Amino acid sequence: MIAVQEAKSIINENLFTLESELIPLNEAGGRVLAQDIIATFPSPQFDNSAMDGFAVKFANTKGANLENSVTLKLVGTSSAGSPSEVTLKEGECIQCMTGAKIPNGADAIVMVEDSSGFSDGESVQLMIEASSGKHIRKMGEEIEKGEILIKKGTLITPSEIGTLATFGYEEIEVAQKPKIAIFGTGDELIEPGNKLEEGQIYNSNLYVFAELVERAGGEIVMRNVIKDDKDSLREFLSEALETCDVIISSGGVSMGKFDYVRDVFKELGVIEKFWKVAQKPGKPLFFGTGNSALIVGLPGNPVSSYIGFMEWVWPIISTLLGQDKQKPLTAILKKPFPREKIKYRFLFGNAWVENGRLVCQPTAKVGSHMLSSSLEANCILGSKSGDEKLQPGENISVNLLPWKRIK
Ligand code: AMP
Ligand code: MG
Repeated sequence: MIAVQEAKSIINENLFTLESELIPLNEAGGRVLAQDIIATFPSPQFDNSAMDGFAVKFANTKGANLENSVTLKLVGTSSAGSPSEVTLKEGECIQCMTGAKIPNGADAIVMVEDSSGFSDGESVQLMIEASSGKHIRKMGEEIEKGEILIKKGTLITPSEIGTLATFGYEEIEVAQKPKIAIFGTGDELIEPGNKLEEGQIYNSNLYVFAELVERAGGEIVMRNVIKDDKDSLREFLSEALETCDVIISSGGVSMGKFDYVRDVFKELGVIEKFWKVAQKPGKPLFFGTGNSALIVGLPGNPVSSYIGFMEWVWPIISTLLGQDKQKPLTAILKKPFPREKIKYRFLFGNAWVENGRLVCQPTAKVGSHMLSSSLEANCILGSKSGDEKLQPGENISVNLLPWKRIK
């Protein structure tokens, strides 16, 4: 049995990043950038109006107010997409819409609300004094040409999509999705939809894994529930080793008489990097490599499987995608946390903000077979080993489940 930290460094030594692929912008949501995104032009691209109004020389509006308006000669219109080519001279103004290019010679905008209004006439009255640069969005004030807008390794969310579109990126390099095989083992397992016979249980772990793989950014290419029988395991695994980047199993890696998964891994040439980690739940964790695949064997108990995926597999997928690892947060315990004498202890928990600080508590159900403990949880709490329970007021590490909310 090895310590959690040691197990993590062994995994890290065996990680790699996947190649990239070019995809269209409208398929980019949820993918991870494999290139830095550079501003190919400044933003705004040109000085433009922040308001619907009149482009003026600010000095020509001096002294204007509601009682004493200033009259300027109307010499053109500049709208978004159709800039005016007229150069403004003393005593003149140009109707200028939001987003329209500021005409040459103009140095301020007067809002239409502070004027006699847009017209087809010869002149306009302005009832406010403008100042230099008023209501003008300056070229490059937001972003300079050549600036790095988004770094390689960033998850593409609506913010990134908007920025990519703003700068005209039609296709982008993203990390290929890791190809993932998931399998469960157990003679007792049947699929939801079938009638349960005595001693049988529904396979829930592969449904959890499939959902987690997708949310982590991977792609399931093989998925099966396999009987506790070496031949079926061998068949599934040899194909998975040929085709996948990551193979994740649930069950069959414990000390049970029918726990054949490790044996078959070995037969197929998988190099065992470790088996058994000082953690609860999920002590019989397996990690190995074979072909170019990473193999993680998680124990079958549903809580061990789910927490094991989040703590061990999720960071692997993130790294393959080139993402930075999520750093855990720290929160203050509101209830005691049951530590283990020699094992790292994980429990589903809840974190929320109280008086401006993040606080948390473990869920009431702690058994590794009690998957319902995950329903109310929004995080996984983790503590190093220790002789005593952690007490309210002490700090604990929090790994937020990204799809849940902090209440
Ligand atoms: P094992 O790791 O194979 O000894 O399994 C430990 C416990 O987890 C047993 O009670 C299994 O019935 C249960 N289990 C194993 N695989 C699954 C699965 N895919 N879905 C739900 N429970 C499972
Ligand atoms: Mg089993």
